[in-house]
Amino acid sequence: MEPPVRQIWKRGFHNLHRCFILHKRCHSGQTGHADIAASNHSRHVKPTLLVSRLYQPSNLRDVGQDSRLQGEMTCKSQMLMQQAGLIHPSNPGCYYYLPVTVRSMEKLVRVIDQEMQGIGGQKLDMPSLCSADLWKTSERWDLMGKELFRLKDRHNADYCLGPTHEEAVTTLVAHQTTLSYRQLPLLLYQVTRKFRDEPKPRFGLLRGREFYMKDMYSFDMSEEAAHRTYESVCQAYTRLFARLGLRCVQVQADTGNIGGTLSHEFQLPADIGEDRLLVCGTCSFAANVETLSPDKTDCPQCSAGTLVESKGIEVGHTFYLGRKYSNIFKAIFSNHQNKPTVAEMGCYGLGVTRILAAAIEVMSTEEAIRWPGLIAPYQVCVLPPKKGSKVEEAAVLAEDLVHTLGQFLPHLRGEVVLDDRTQMTIGKRLRDAGRLGYPYVVVVGQAALEEMPKFEVICQQTGETVFLSKDGLIDLLRTVETV
Ligand SMILES: [Zn+2]
Repeated sequence: MEPPVRQIWKRGFHNLHRCFILHKRCHSGQTGHADIAASNHSRHVKPTLLVSRLYQPSNLRDVGQDSRLQGEMTCKSQMLMQQAGLIHPSNPGCYYYLPVTVRSMEKLVRVIDQEMQGIGGQKLDMPSLCSADLWKTSERWDLMGKELFRLKDRHNADYCLGPTHEEAVTTLVAHQTTLSYRQLPLLLYQVTRKFRDEPKPRFGLLRGREFYMKDMYSFDMSEEAAHRTYESVCQAYTRLFARLGLRCVQVQADTGNIGGTLSHEFQLPADIGEDRLLVCGTCSFAANVETLSPDKTDCPQCSAGTLVESKGIEVGHTFYLGRKYSNIFKAIFSNHQNKPTVAEMGCYGLGVTRILAAAIEVMSTEEAIRWPGLIAPYQVCVLPPKKGSKVEEAAVLAEDLVHTLGQFLPHLRGEVVLDDRTQMTIGKRLRDAGRLGYPYVVVVGQAALEEMPKFEVICQQTGETVFLSKDGLIDLLRTVETV
């Protein structure tokens, strides 16, 4: 007969604790506490994620005084990300993305995939090493100047590290000689590392020399169809930022060295933004200052409103390209009359690492990171009591809670961490949890030991604290959206 759970905990707490950490070994036939482990959680429970084991090299130590660790801090997101062990500088404009950042970025990429595939986008992956021949054909080999990272192979052939892939993708599509109007619109995209030799890399991940970008390219049968595609991509971008809870303005923009005739930027208003925007107070009109004549103060769209200047971080850019690249590289499809016709193109970028850093920039305080909930690296942090404190026995309830959440809330598997640094006070660990910005922090203390056990739940987004039963907590966390 199974002894009551609580007695098992009291008797075997030490072993059980080891068992959570070394979970695999428990199931591989060790005697004694292996049985206890097996009876307490189902067979496919993952090992608990322990804060002490997370690879976060500065480990939230106060680096305020240490200028060597600080490096050159040029903005809030860089400082917060570096101090919390989310990124680590390597060489100018390049960073290690540490595990917590990669978790968040992979989530962001999943949201992007959902939105791009929702409008028919198909994901591919093109080489970063691009032959100079293609870039010479489009004349951008010279046009790009010093921004292009150039290199030679052992045969002395010129290459560049791709900052964008209009040449590559158009060549790919041109190689398909049987492309039919029935296959259009064709939307191809990738999420890859891009390279740009920035003269002044700064602001952490906001302006680096190596970064992740989502770039999509569209091929359509007519100008009208291409405009429809352009519009559907803009709508997908708007949905994406809405899902992330980010206020984003779509502004008319200059087409720069990409070319084409129609272009919009997606900007997150922020003080450190490098772009100057003019936004109408009355209608939806917004434009980059570059595109308007100087001293323009009246809105060209509604004539009632005045334009107010604001700074913005560019996180997305869309271009209608027309036939600029498809003419050069002969991206041709056969139309309804079976006649070869040059495709109409568009290209659409999203700065993946930049969105991540910009979100932290606009949502965080000087001390505490805040994430868009959907892409927070971990959704829940559970805090057991301090070792040796009066309520130490609640520690087992914290571990039990982590496993219960895993069992009842499959969408939160891998999303719940246990802050096992129980040599530290609750207060210190709460402050760390606050700085890292887990959307939900659960304190297991005195209230958990009462006859009607309650957990203290802090919702970081709202700053609210509530006391909930285990069922109440499960109901609350059931509503958390994950990706
Ligand atoms: Zn207006």
